Order: sequence, then structure tokens, then C-alpha cells
Amino acid sequence: MIVGIIGGGQLAQMLAMAGQPLGIRCLFLDPAPDACARTTGELLCGDYGDDRLLDELARRATVVTYEFENVPEAGLRRLASRVSVHPHPQALALARDRWHEKRLFADLHIPTPPFVAVDTRADLERALAITGWPAVLKTRTMGYDGKGQRVLRGPADVDGAFAALFGAPLILEGFVAFDREISVVAVRSATGDVRFYPLTENVHRNGVLVQSQARPGDPMTARAEDYVGRLLAHFAYVGVLAVEFFQKGDTLLANEMAPRVHNSGHWTMEGAETSQFENHLRAVLGLPLGATHALAPSGMVNFVGRLPEASAVLAVPGAHLHVYGKVARPGRKLGHATVRAPREPDVQDALARLRVLAEAGGTI
Ligand code: AMP
Repeated sequence: MIVGIIGGGQLAQMLAMAGQPLGIRCLFLDPAPDACARTTGELLCGDYGDDRLLDELARRATVVTYEFENVPEAGLRRLASRVSVHPHPQALALARDRWHEKRLFADLHIPTPPFVAVDTRADLERALAITGWPAVLKTRTMGYDGKGQRVLRGPADVDGAFAALFGAPLILEGFVAFDREISVVAVRSATGDVRFYPLTENVHRNGVLVQSQARPGDPMTARAEDYVGRLLAHFAYVGVLAVEFFQKGDTLLANEMAPRVHNSGHWTMEGAETSQFENHLRAVLGLPLGATHALAPSGMVNFVGRLPEASAVLAVPGAHLHVYGKVARPGRKLGHATVRAPREPDVQDALARLRVLAEAGGTI
């Protein structure tokens, strides 16, 4: 079985590694000749819009999936007319545009922060009257890891933010003074079997995920799963879907969804009975899904911009190191460590030690 993956970054790499014991091989399409997944499968190197390469992917793969949202629509349509593509390209199209995504949340009665589409400076003034201060101005498309967004704390911030982002379609959102950020990673099979991983509590810095911790039995679980279940049913979804929420009091506000495996699910590699990567492959190939429960208290720390010494990471009890093999650059995710430990306080302690290692002398 060959799974075609659009994108050859670390998510594709970890999908391929999860596929190996199952006899699944992966074929990646990525414009970067040094795409880090190339060590784990065959790389078709070229543009995402290259018809010849898309056709080769369609011809050789049993099914095609993707590891990021910004896949050109024409290319996906071409693929979908020749081979099964999961998750459904419609889920991808919606997730790619923050405004359409939040419209869908609202249509499904999933609460969101207030949001307004902004195309002109006059729109922005009108939108601010709706959201109030502070607010966050974001590009509707191509934004990830906090890129393409500016927080507006007061009128003095407006001109600079608008000038920086203007040119692309924008969205203004109310700024949420959240108590915490959580995400739900779920998987659905073509036959409608739905499994949820334990809710995950996340910490971001400068818009980039730095830490996740699994929270089995969290009191917000039922509500979060209800919301995510609506999205899975809406798309008759196949594969892993991740949805990020802000929690304030006992309210959950949906921030965004990712129609793919997700950074906040990396703890499942060592922490869950079946990792999100294996379950995504099982789902898109029509194989039975695996159990999603946590094996023990678990978490993850990202290494952004620099990698700590392997020996220091591995000296942390319960830590497992994952290095992607990417060239170091500020703000770039280079690897992560998962932690699985017998008791919750041990995980807290390990995560704190890993955070120190991740940040020591590093440029983020
Ligand atoms: P995003 O790219 O939308 O996932 O944003 C990245 C991070 O920026 C989020 O995980 C939050 O930490 C922060 N953020 C984004 N939007 C908002 C908002 N409306 N209110 C407060 N924080 C936000």
C-alpha cells in the first residue's frame, strides 16, 4: 500500500514512520529537495501545482492525504478526479480560510470569538466597533504558527497592523483573555467509527505551540467532543481532525481546525495506545481504527529554533526525543520530546525540565 502525501515536512515524516511496521510506504510531493520526510520515503520534488507530478502521485498511490492546509485547490481537484483523497478536499478548503472556517463553526452552533471579514480600512473601523478592544487582525489564508497576525490593543496599533497585513483578505477577531488553550484530536473512519484522544492542554508562545499535556477525564471533554463530533459528521470526515479552542470559564470558543495530524497530538506517539499518525493512516486506508486512550500521564515539548543536546533531553525521566533533521532557523520547529511517566507530577516535572532545555540560550 502506498500513501501519497502532499507536503514532505515533519508531519509527513512521522506518518511514514508510523506506516512502516504496517507495510505502508509513503510517497511525498514537496518543492524542497531537502524536505525532511525524504529520509522515510520517496520524494517527488516539485511544485504543488505541477500536473505531471500530481498525476504520478495519483497513479502510484492507493490514497492521497496531506500534511498542511495550503494546498492549491486546482491541484487537489485534479488529484481527487483520479484517486481517493482523504480528508475530503472540502474540509481542507474550509480550514484554509479563517473566515469560512469560523462561518462553519457558527453554522454548526459551535461558539467562536466575535469575527468580521475585513477588506478595506473602512471595514476595519466597522469591525472594531463589533469586536471591541483588544482585537486580533489576521490574514484569512496562509497563516500558521502565529504568522500573518497582529494584536490591536488600541487605536495607535491600527494603522501599522493594517499596513503590515493589507493586500490579503483579512479577518478581525475579538481578543480572548482565555484561561487556557485546549485542543481535541479526533479520528473518523469511512464507516463512521469516531475516536477521540484525551483532550490536550496547550501552551503557545508568539503564536507557536511550545507545550502540550494530555488531560484524560478533563471536565470540558464532553462539550469539546460534542463540538468536534459535529464537524466530523458535517464532512463525513475520514482521517484525523484537530480543533483548537480557547477556554474561558466553562465556555469553549473554537479558534481553528486542522484537517490533518496536529502538533498538539504528538504526545500520542509514546503516550497513547495508537498514535495519531498510525490512526490517520488506518482511517485513510480503510483499516480498523486503533484505541486512542492514554497509556499514562503524557505531554510534549517542542524544540523551536534550536535543538537541545540529545543527552540532556534523554536524561529527563520518561522523555523520548524526536528530531526531524531540518536545518535550524529561528522560529522553525526542529523536533520535540514526548514524556510518559507513571504519575502526573512526574510529567509536570519533566515538562518543566524540557522547557528549560528548549529555551536555554535559544532564539525563538
Ligand atoms: P492561530 O494561528 O489562530 O492558531 O493563533 C496562534 C495563537 O495566537 C493561538 O494559539 C493563541 O495563543 C493566539 N491567538 C490567536 N487568536 C487569538 C484570539 N482571538 N484571542 C487571543 N489569542 C489569540
